[in-house]
Amino acid sequence: MLEVLGSRVFHGAEARRCLDLLRRSERPVLLAHRSPDGDAVGSTLGLWHALVAQGMSPRIVLPDGYPDFYAWMPGAESIVFHDSDPQQAEALVRLADVVFCCDFNGLGRVGGLETALRETQGARILIDHHLHPEDAFELAFSDTSVCSTSELIYGLLEAWGWAEHLTRPAAECLYVGMVTDSGSFRYPAVTSATHRIAARLLEAGVEQSVVHARVYDTNTENRIRLLGFALGEKLQVWPDYHAAMIALSRSELDRFHARSGDTEGLVNEALRIAGVNLAAFFSEATDGRIKLSLRSRGSFSVREVAAEHFNGGGHFHAAGGAVEGATLAEVCARFEGLLPRYAHALNYTI
Ligand code: 5GP
Ligand code: MN
Repeated sequence: MLEVLGSRVFHGAEARRCLDLLRRSERPVLLAHRSPDGDAVGSTLGLWHALVAQGMSPRIVLPDGYPDFYAWMPGAESIVFHDSDPQQAEALVRLADVVFCCDFNGLGRVGGLETALRETQGARILIDHHLHPEDAFELAFSDTSVCSTSELIYGLLEAWGWAEHLTRPAAECLYVGMVTDSGSFRYPAVTSATHRIAARLLEAGVEQSVVHARVYDTNTENRIRLLGFALGEKLQVWPDYHAAMIALSRSELDRFHARSGDTEGLVNEALRIAGVNLAAFFSEATDGRIKLSLRSRGSFSVREVAAEHFNGGGHFHAAGGAVEGATLAEVCARFEGLLPRYAHALNYTI
């Protein structure tokens, strides 16, 4: 018997109840949040592979597409996207008998699938690590101390006795979620259990350097030039406020033919400056909304900043949001205007 590594949330009777629901299920659906990241794609695909290995026929539904550098993930070709096939996506969610809600904490995070998710006849089961989950789930496995939902999925498979027989494709997908949500195993939420689970995934066949290269080193030339432009021309730093910001307009993004995912991680570059403890990235989405990413390090939480001022939310050190009915310049000015009041709280050395 292997040592138990998964989160405590799976130690009780609820993990067995979840398995009972699943065993009786004929139409399980796995769902993740809008603008899916590596953890959203990795956690749903990892669970999907595990269920398929048990002879089940689950379906993955995502609100919209993921960046190209996740397209190699095994099983990705079977995902149904709401933005390209709304009818099928909504029908799958509505008619499901179990809906696993992976890597999001509220029904509003699934974009155009929200109504179908609210009205589904299936049992909603939450598996997530974001703060303050909504009270909208029959079963909720929420642990905000865990670095990724993929790590949580591993714990669930372990509780069901399936972790010992994890297939290589399942392990690869969970590994992607763990690498991306942990900043390649460097964020504070990474624990010894995270590394032990990662080790199990390697034992299941994951070639970690290949996975890392596929996710991080398959950039287009345009993306690398956009990064250079953003850092060279668009980075603003307020040393006295310990803050930095990058903002990209639609025309600037178009100049570099920016595609989904091309700006992922850009905000973290601004946080690599000594003395900067708060970083923001703003961009004009194609639908006119201003999307933003906030990052911090140390004792300052960006979750409340995103929730109170930018129609968003998230984690302590990583939050985001989307503002409607304001220009890029207005949203940037709103951010700059907040800095004096945060200056004291941001004045620390890491
Ligand atoms: P990112 O900056 O990578 O897009 O998002 C970082 C984190 O912020 C996500 O993991 C998610 O928790 C949160 N987040 C991003 N966008 C939104 C949003 O529009 N609304 C809410 N509530 N949270 C968001
Ligand atoms: Mn996540």
